[in-house]
Amino acid sequence: MTKLSGKAAIVTGSSKGIGRAIALRLAKDGADVAVNYLGDDQAAQHTLEAIHATGVKAIAVKADVSTGAGVTELFERALAAFGRIDLVVANAGIEKVNIPVIDVTEEDLDQLLRVNTKGPFLVMQAAARHLADGGRIINISSSSTVRPQPGLGLYGTSKSAPNYLAEVLALELGPRRITVNSLQPGPVDGAGIFTDVDDAEPYKKALRDSVPLGRLATPADVADVTAFLAGEESFFITGQRILMNGASSN
Ligand code: NAD
Repeated sequence: MTKLSGKAAIVTGSSKGIGRAIALRLAKDGADVAVNYLGDDQAAQHTLEAIHATGVKAIAVKADVSTGAGVTELFERALAAFGRIDLVVANAGIEKVNIPVIDVTEEDLDQLLRVNTKGPFLVMQAAARHLADGGRIINISSSSTVRPQPGLGLYGTSKSAPNYLAEVLALELGPRRITVNSLQPGPVDGAGIFTDVDDAEPYKKALRDSVPLGRLATPADVADVTAFLAGEESFFITGQRILMNGASSN
């Protein structure tokens, strides 16, 4: 018996990157997992196979969680497969960084507010409606919401509102013993922009040099803290914004 056996989890945006590491970690701890993703069927399939290998139940749900219809489909499919939902990780997000505020287009603004702000709102709202008593909501936020930097105006703005929502939900859901927290990682190697950009190394080095611990965070680091917040031991931590940036200035 592992610490999350008998529990069922939804991890949004978990075909790759940080979400994938979280989905795998929750599965290793014994939870059944719904892997949500937007477009990459092959990546989702690989994640699903890796989760099945741990022996838990898992489903993949292709659904755009920046829309109400996508969120409804995800929760209905998870409930149909597992019969309950105990853990919801609002992870899906888009990173658009290094854009001075004067260069942000209305199109970019609409996209990031839809995916990074409206999406987590809808996901956490659905979690509030469907979670079993004693459940957990974990909002994957970003250190950019507390470490303003030039070029992060758009991204940091879009990631900030869900932190507030999580604090309000911690108050509203406390009587049901549901905890709600935001995790704020610094730059994570092996995820998001660090996998998309060909010439990421100079940018990575500058960020790495700013971390007293001597390296960037990994998806597994974020998954470890998420697993702690998902477990029984963290029960008295709720309504918190947890910064995990290795004491970096970023
Ligand atoms: P990623 O690009 O590697 O993966 C993103 C995942 O989200 C993919 O599975 C994608 O399919 C999914 N996704 C995107 N939009 C979606 C939508 N509308 N509906 C459903 N799924 C959707 O990203 P990542 O770097 O792993 O980032 C995950 C989260 O962590 C994001 O919220 C991001 O803001 C946050 N974060 C990332 C870093 C970093 O350095 N990578 C640092 C701090 C916080």
